Amino acid sequence: MAKRLSVVLASGGIDSTVAAAVAAQHGPLALLHLEYGQQAEAAERQAFEAVCQWIKPMHQRVVSLGDWSGVADSPLLRPDGRLNDAATTGTSLLADSYVPMLAAAMLCRAAAWAYTLGAGRIVWGASLDNPSNDPGNADAARLIAWQLIQRSLPGEASPVLDAPLAQYAKAAVVALAADLSVPLDVTWSCLRAGPDPCRRCLGCVARARALG
Ligand SMILES: [Zn+2]
Repeated sequence: MAKRLSVVLASGGIDSTVAAAVAAQHGPLALLHLEYGQQAEAAERQAFEAVCQWIKPMHQRVVSLGDWSGVADSPLLRPDGRLNDAATTGTSLLADSYVPMLAAAMLCRAAAWAYTLGAGRIVWGASLDNPSNDPGNADAARLIAWQLIQRSLPGEASPVLDAPLAQYAKAAVVALAADLSVPLDVTWSCLRAGPDPCRRCLGCVARARALG
C-alpha cells in the first residue's frame, strides 16, 4: 500500500522544518506556508522556499490568510517596529507574538488542502516553547480547534493531526535536526522583517539559546 501523504504547516522556522524531516521518514510531503501580514513575512517565505529546495516535497503551496491586523492587535503584525525585545518581555510570550485564533485558521487551511489532496496526516511542527504558543494553553486550544475542524470534514476523509515535537524543548529539536541532517542555516526565526536577524527579539533569543 502506498504511504499516505502528510500536509506539513511549514513556516520556514526550525521547528516546522525538523517536523517536516521527521514526517518525510513516513511518506511523501505537501508543505503549506501561510502568510498573515506578519512583520517577517518576506524573510519567512524565503526560508520556506529554501526548505522546499532541500526536502523536495511532492507538493508545496504558499497561501495568504489576509491581513490579520484588521482584526487582531498584535505587535507581530505591525510594520512600525514596536515589537519588544526579549529582554523586555521576558517569558511573557503573549505580549508580543501571540495572534488570536491564528492557529485555528492555519489548521483550517491545512485541513482543506489535506482533504483536497487525500492526505492522511497534518503535521503541526511547533515545539514545547514555540514563541507563538499561548503558554499552558496551546495544546488544549489546538486540539479543541482540531476536533471542530474534523467534524466539518466527511468522516471517511478526516486526516489525523500529528504534533511530533510538541513535547520537545527547542534544544532537543536542534539535536534532532543534527540527527536528520536538517540544514538549519536556511531557516528563519526572527520576528522582525530582516533582512538580517535582529538578535534581540524572542525568536532570535530562543534560537541562539537552542543552538548554543
Ligand atoms: Zn529577531
